[in-house]
Amino acid sequence: DRLITTASTREDEALEASIRPKRLDEYLGQQAVREQLGIYIEAAKGRGEALDHVLIFGPPGLGKTTLSHVIANELGVNLRQTSGPVIEKAGDLAALLTNLQAHDVLFVDEIHRLSPVVEEILYPAMEDFQIDIMIGEGPAARSIKLDLPPFTLIGATTRAGLLTAPLRDRFGIVQRLEFYSVDELTRIVRRSAQILGIACAPEGAAEIAKRSRGTPRIANRLLRRVRDYAQVRAGGNITAEVADAAMAMLKVDQEGFDELDRRMLRTIIESFDGGPVGVESLAAALSEERGTLEDVIEPYLIQQGYLVRTARGRMASAKAYRHMGLKPRGTGAD
Ligand code: ADP
Repeated sequence: DRLITTASTREDEALEASIRPKRLDEYLGQQAVREQLGIYIEAAKGRGEALDHVLIFGPPGLGKTTLSHVIANELGVNLRQTSGPVIEKAGDLAALLTNLQAHDVLFVDEIHRLSPVVEEILYPAMEDFQIDIMIGEGPAARSIKLDLPPFTLIGATTRAGLLTAPLRDRFGIVQRLEFYSVDELTRIVRRSAQILGIACAPEGAAEIAKRSRGTPRIANRLLRRVRDYAQVRAGGNITAEVADAAMAMLKVDQEGFDELDRRMLRTIIESFDGGPVGVESLAAALSEERGTLEDVIEPYLIQQGYLVRTARGRMASAKAYRHMGLKPRGTGAD
């Protein structure tokens, strides 16, 4: 298993309840998002209305699910949680919607994976708080209109471009989550360590934060692995040296790249002469899914300037060559 995978694991889920921020002021970083949502939430509450529908996008592990829980908490309403691929039939969605109470939040993760039929049902539900459902079959079938309580749909997706335009247009509030800075991740690690009762020096937390690929889920996971190492090898105390040694053992490098990141950079450089290479060819060469490259691996490498996305494909930058201990090509992108 990939240690720095951004997918949620069972261990993550178990600890989630204790470390997941519940209020806006515990949700660290994402300053602009917090400020705007704080205002929208207060305004909706002041008017006694449901909050407008919210679309949150950003790479996995940046806090989309957490933010939806925070929003529901701050609104003082219930949150129902589902995901795009889970809602198979129109009836599944109708059942969810008709069970909501006024102003509740319905959180749909991976909302870009809703089937077209289900998505159609969602349009009038979002716009007019109404759904049309078919009762019966054949000649006796008829459609009836059901009124829904006013509710807030929160949709999460990795990239805004994955949504159809009609769906995207129905969200009044669109928020994009950014990778976290090392400072923000340091605060997240220190907060988690405190909650979990882990002895972690500020420098130890910073060392973990530096290698977390801008992602709180990875930061929390590295903290747990470093804790194991500290417990067995270093009397339980996470100092910078202990964190460093633990991560060397975990093969997470100075930049937080693991074997897969390095393999991707090396493949572009060695097999495709630095690129540009199309994402399909790259996925085939790495035996990885195209979606994994696009959603999980590449966004951070691009944000950090190791990878450049051009119209003709991905290119390794001079920074990538240097990181891999190679001499940059004379004509390469930088
Ligand atoms: P996503 O839904 O985007 O995949 P999650 O909401 O599940 O990500 O967040 C992953 C982990 O990171 C959780 O353990 C959560 O507690 C933590 N986390 C996310 N955002 C923040 C934040 N802003 N402050 C503190 N912890 C966070």
